[in-house]
Amino acid sequence: MSIGIDDTHAAALLSWLESANDLATDFPIQNLPYGRFRREPACDWSIGVAIGDQVLDLRLAKVLESDDMNRLMGLNHAARLALRRALSLGLRQGSTQQDQFRAAMVAQDSVEMGLPCEIGDFTDFYTGIHHATTVGKLFRPENPLLPNYKWVPIAYHGRSSSIGVSRPGLGQTFPRPLGQIKAPDATEPRLEPSAKLDFELELGLFIGRPNVIGEPISITEAEQHVFGLALFNDWSARDIQAWEYQPLGPFLSKNFASTVSPWVVTLEALAPFRQAFTRPEGDPAPLPYLNSPTNQEQGAINIQLEVWLQTSQMRAAGDAAVRLMESNFRDAYWTVAQLVAHHTVNGCNLRSGDLLGSGTLSGPKAEQGGSLLELSQGGKRPLPLPNGELRTFLEDGDTVILRGYCQREGFRRIGLGECRGSVLPARI
Ligand code: MN
Repeated sequence: MSIGIDDTHAAALLSWLESANDLATDFPIQNLPYGRFRREPACDWSIGVAIGDQVLDLRLAKVLESDDMNRLMGLNHAARLALRRALSLGLRQGSTQQDQFRAAMVAQDSVEMGLPCEIGDFTDFYTGIHHATTVGKLFRPENPLLPNYKWVPIAYHGRSSSIGVSRPGLGQTFPRPLGQIKAPDATEPRLEPSAKLDFELELGLFIGRPNVIGEPISITEAEQHVFGLALFNDWSARDIQAWEYQPLGPFLSKNFASTVSPWVVTLEALAPFRQAFTRPEGDPAPLPYLNSPTNQEQGAINIQLEVWLQTSQMRAAGDAAVRLMESNFRDAYWTVAQLVAHHTVNGCNLRSGDLLGSGTLSGPKAEQGGSLLELSQGGKRPLPLPNGELRTFLEDGDTVILRGYCQREGFRRIGLGECRGSVLPARI
């Protein structure tokens, strides 16, 4: 693995584009995340890079010849590094390409963002051990953390057709799902709208370079196959999930909608925020195929994460969204490299544009739950909101906003933007 810090990460680096030098922006010149946008609904998607409050159209800027994001994601590591360098050189102060790049820019608030790529397969992992333990206690008080958890990165294969992209305002909207629900005291289930609709705070990992079927990706090469990370909300209907999940795992409780943020922050941009990956004293060491010196030294990534909520009542009163919790990706029990190595160890092939969900990223403390299931203790302890409303699970009209950013002394703060979605009433 050769992800390193270079001059594209220098804190002193400034852009000729003023909005990129604003200390509050998620998209300074050190970030350079990729996304797909269009100016009009009739237009095809173009590949863009977020810089300050603008989008740089890569084909207009003559940086790329194609608008195919999946093809861009499939580039090898050296080509991706060269592209990052070309963008950094063109956007920095004193660049001779300033006029060419400026003519290829459009304001972010004037374009529509699409899904970052054509998402192929979607796998959702379960790397948040604090989430797994808390939820395990609610579903199985006698047996919260199953014995395989510390050995196998647990996952299920999900569905990509219902993954949508965050938008401004209400974000991705979807109706409250219907499903089979069995009340605890009932003898039979009924088809009803979910009464326990929830969010899950996750990160989505986009696969870059593919592997050939039958040829596993080793942990030392795993990160070269990852293009980058985005925020991901795995909306979940807990009452449908509780009745359907045994013995084969979640199905209709999860596949009605998921929301991804529009900008993919590359692993190269995240280089300054790498940290040692450690396990608590007494926990088993990962099996050799899930272990490497590099993974131990810098396998974890310091990404601060937050969930915000705005109810329809708050929106009507002009109240801003309120923060429900915060946690950090570095607390995950498995690293990005381990997920890729494990997913392919049996010969399974990953393709450019496949999406791996991290699983719900809760922190170690009770108030750091990455879902309402945890924050309300299964609905037993309603969360009071500043305007007097209470929440156990999501109500119609609720907007959930995920945010993420990286901070480290001596480096420029970079952000992942936001992942926004809202619940509409059930269609009954
Ligand atoms: Mn999930």
